[in-house]
Amino acid sequence: MTAQLIDGNALSKQLRGQVAERATALKARGVTPGLAVVLVGDNPASQVYVRNKVKACQDSGLHSVLEKYEADMSEADLLARVEALNNDPSIHGILVQLPLPAHIDAQKVIEAISPLKDVDGFHIASAGALMTGMPGFWPCTPYGCMKMLESIGYDLKGKHAVVIGRSNIVGKPMALMLLQKNATVTICHSATRDLKAQTLQADVIVAAVGKRNVLTADMVRPGAVVLDVGMNRNDEGKLCGDVDFDGVREVASHITPVPGGVGPMTITMLLVNTLEAAERAAAGA
Ligand code: NAP
Repeated sequence: MTAQLIDGNALSKQLRGQVAERATALKARGVTPGLAVVLVGDNPASQVYVRNKVKACQDSGLHSVLEKYEADMSEADLLARVEALNNDPSIHGILVQLPLPAHIDAQKVIEAISPLKDVDGFHIASAGALMTGMPGFWPCTPYGCMKMLESIGYDLKGKHAVVIGRSNIVGKPMALMLLQKNATVTICHSATRDLKAQTLQADVIVAAVGKRNVLTADMVRPGAVVLDVGMNRNDEGKLCGDVDFDGVREVASHITPVPGGVGPMTITMLLVNTLEAAERAAAGA
């Protein structure tokens, strides 16, 4: 069996089109959805990420501002900027690009963002809302994975999902989202004794580790759906995921490629969350 690709670029295009339509409708009511992206320091990867986020906003008709600060900005000054953005009615979503310089407590900064504008979904209130099934913003990467499953009409009820990785931004929220859709969920991590024994039982596998070839064909049950969140470089310096794509695609029923899989969906869900924040603000106004 050769797996069907779940094309993150195509799905993103479709979802971004819907965002643009909703943004137009909101603008007709006098509200332009706005995202503020805050970058501290000159981390080259972060610069690329924020540029892509700002451009994606512009392409979908969202207003975006990029605030760039020197690496020696104080924590107090950054907290003051976040507070100003919390109080700015033209801004509906705030994203502080991570990592922050070592002298700044990233968690403190995240907690300073109003949960109503926490479009990254990293605030402890957003995490609590996800855990308890209350309305809130879902972290963009696992949210994008859920949309990918939805796009193939996959019913998670009663299925066994194995998530490899337990970070606060991918693995844990991913597991909660799958659980919310009635999957039986196993979370694996670096201390998991026999990863293969776990993955071989899975109907759905999400790999979110950051190591090449964590998942190989012999670890996948025929017909399983495989989502690859990992972003690594291969020996030729090309972007690749955690999954041995060429091998696993011969066993899985569906698989996400890297690049062109989960990656574009992450930014797309940031746009969706920002639009949602603006719609909620407009409804409450
Ligand atoms: P992270 O915070 O480093 O977490 C990695 C997780 O993998 C940890 O829970 C770790 O376990 C687990 N792990 C490490 N080695 C393992 C092994 N051999 N077997 C099983 N589990 C193992 O990383 P992250 O932020 O979640 O990101 C994961 C990957 O996704 C990275 O490659 C990152 O670049 C990528 N990513 C992509 C996107 C995107 O938009 N496509 C977005 C976010 C992240 P312990 O907890 O025990 O240490």
